[in-house]
Amino acid sequence: RAKSTAHNMYFVYENKMADNINAHLTLGGGLRKAIEEEQFVLHYQPKIRLPDESVVGAEALIRWSHPELGMISPDQFIPLAEESGLIIPLGEWVICRACRQLQEWREAGYRPIKLSVNLSSRQFMQADLVDMVQRILEETGVDPKYFELELTESMLMADAQQSIEKLHGFRKLGLTLSIDDFGTGYSSLAYLKKFPIQTLKIDRSFIHDLGLDCDNDAIVKATVAMANSLNLKVIAEGVENRTQVDILNSYKCQEVQGYLFSKPLNSVDFALYMDIHGFYNVSVAVENDSV
Ligand code: C2E
Ligand code: MG
Ligand code: MG
Ligand code: MG
Repeated sequence: RAKSTAHNMYFVYENKMADNINAHLTLGGGLRKAIEEEQFVLHYQPKIRLPDESVVGAEALIRWSHPELGMISPDQFIPLAEESGLIIPLGEWVICRACRQLQEWREAGYRPIKLSVNLSSRQFMQADLVDMVQRILEETGVDPKYFELELTESMLMADAQQSIEKLHGFRKLGLTLSIDDFGTGYSSLAYLKKFPIQTLKIDRSFIHDLGLDCDNDAIVKATVAMANSLNLKVIAEGVENRTQVDILNSYKCQEVQGYLFSKPLNSVDFALYMDIHGFYNVSVAVENDSV
């Protein structure tokens, strides 16, 4: 009997593997069509300032709203989009959608909020990326000071000199630049300072262990202190409990993001979230209504 259970489990396992492979092929094949049919949505996760815990911004996170498979997370299809090169049109769609959303919220009467968008490696290597971002900002009328790009260390290190030029191009447009998942790469903060960046986002693996591991706490504390003295804003991602907030407050970390405050929300729910947090500006809404 034990043997047959093990046997069954083996088949379950094998079927799961087959499912994964099928999912990979199905997703990869469906991606091009999904882009044409705009089967994607952006969700928005608030960014919270410490210590007052006011809402200061949001990060746009893509999801694939698949007609048969339901919501698919970016970790499952961004790598496929990278491999196939479809990240180029998809990445452009994300920037466009994020900028339009910012303007839609403004028109609906919300005070402006700063929105960040993630870039991936191949997208960052795109030669006309700066021009593309400039064009979308102009077309949508978004004030670049409300727009931020999140990049990773490895993206910048692939070709440091070219990266620096690109980042200066973005800075000339007036937007801000953030290093995402900081601490998972191999670069030192001293080296990173060669790049014109404004924000450091500490990876959630470090935040997860806050208060549980002295060495980890020391790393976070030192990172926040060094970032502060280099005039970089620090934000902690993946904050899930009060202990983490208290520790980050004591380290003088400026911003937090995580499930404790809110999961990423669809645009309707994010608008409700802004309502609750005082972002609805009555006078602007009246002005718009009368036009
Ligand atoms: P990321 O930019 O580091 O985003 C943070 C991820 O952590 C998000 O997962 C978010 O939903 C999740 N998260 C937020 N708070 C918590 C928390 O308190 N606990 C835990 N456990 N997780 C939390 P998501 O949305 O699945 O995105 C995963 C990654 O996919 C992102 O990591 C980013 O690298 C990439 N990605 C998302 N949207 C885009 C996009 O539009 N373009 C590109 N190129 N990449 C994207
Ligand atoms: Mg990010
Ligand atoms: Mg991150
Ligand atoms: Mg991350």
